[in-house]
Amino acid sequence: MYKFYINKITNDHHYEELVKVFLRREEYEIVMNFNKKDITVDDINSFLINDVDSIERDEILRELYIKLTEITGHEHLWGSMIGVRPLKPAINAFELTGDLEKAKEHLKAYYILSDKKANMLIDILEYQMNNVVAAEENTVGIYIGIPFCPSRCAYCSFTSNIAKTGEVDRYLEALIKEIEYIGRTGLKPESIYIGGGTPSVLDENQLELLVGEIKENIDLSGLKEYSFEAGRPDTVSIEKLKILKKYDIERISINPQTFSQDTLVKIGRNHSVDGIYRAYDMAKEVGFKSINSDIIAGLPDEEISDFENTVDKIIQLNPENVTVHSLAVKKGSKLEETNPNYYRNNGELVMNMLDLADKKLKENGYSPYYIYRQKHMAGALENIGYQRDKTHCIYNIRIMNERQSIIALGAGGASKIYFPSEERHERVPNVSNYEVYIARIEDMINRKKGYLGGN
Ligand code: SF4
Repeated sequence: MYKFYINKITNDHHYEELVKVFLRREEYEIVMNFNKKDITVDDINSFLINDVDSIERDEILRELYIKLTEITGHEHLWGSMIGVRPLKPAINAFELTGDLEKAKEHLKAYYILSDKKANMLIDILEYQMNNVVAAEENTVGIYIGIPFCPSRCAYCSFTSNIAKTGEVDRYLEALIKEIEYIGRTGLKPESIYIGGGTPSVLDENQLELLVGEIKENIDLSGLKEYSFEAGRPDTVSIEKLKILKKYDIERISINPQTFSQDTLVKIGRNHSVDGIYRAYDMAKEVGFKSINSDIIAGLPDEEISDFENTVDKIIQLNPENVTVHSLAVKKGSKLEETNPNYYRNNGELVMNMLDLADKKLKENGYSPYYIYRQKHMAGALENIGYQRDKTHCIYNIRIMNERQSIIALGAGGASKIYFPSEERHERVPNVSNYEVYIARIEDMINRKKGYLGGN
């Protein structure tokens, strides 16, 4: 058992995040909020990380990272960089140095970041600088969550529920109250993203009701992008797609995750490989400006050849965007229950899979445009959004860069209100349980009123 004494008063989950990249839960203990006089670190497995009280989190992480590499003999591509939004440090580094090359060198020195990841961040930053204009003041992004799915994926830790008709109707009734409230604030969204869950689980009437209410209540005159996750191919129908099109939704996601039928069964996705093709045919028939498809590296029992097949098949389908995920096995998922350390067993394999996807996608005209990391990802790696022909998703970029308010409606949605002059955010969460959300809808609205006004 390794013991890390970190000389800080306030608890900070970032340190544990870094330790977990290297060590299993049972192999370490982090001790904070202690009196230096009371500890002895002469045991060879105990380490006092920061002797000086005043040093900042990043410096502690760097010190901790160096210690972990010494203990384990391993390095990590992301060095001491922790957190969901790795592009933010790159933006800060550019603002500090005023030059992309210098920003890269700064990232490598400050976070002990590998060349590979530093290059990736700088490429993404450069893409965004050249192709994405800054958000106009007072614009917002709106997220609308539908927390229902046709079945539960083995790796899912979201607040997804198996959809039952009566329940979905009751949920929509509450959600519409929140939509009406947003209308009364006069907010003009730059983007709307209807996600989940699986929003395409709504039947045609429910779907038309939802998008109709959005149109009726919210001022869409400044809308630049309207996205809808038709995530599970088995929930897509031509009628639903036509409704989306009728309401000017031009960006949809159809998410195969894998083109291996065996894996689809293993992960409980209840759809077939043929179903992916059928959904694509329908979407192409209706004609959307942009289709995104998610695929996952590191699914159970998949070898590099299975993943390569998935990448090849997705490239043949030629969507505008491809999002490559590293499998995240978080608390509350079935996979985590079966094997809590699952995600750390195949880090090298997933790294090779990500490299393969990167190479093939780039050879076929795609480039990375946004990136995020999650907890418990295989190899502590990342998710990367690729685009071709400048078809990036504005909403994805804004939510990661945190320089625009994102207003989240529905159960499990957490709004983040941005105060540019103070460069800070206020988090305003809705409850995650959809039944509680329905019961407390007025509460959810009142929480927002304090920040957004309206009646
Ligand atoms: S589709 Fe997404 S939200 Fe639904 S069960 Fe699967 S991982 Fe969870």
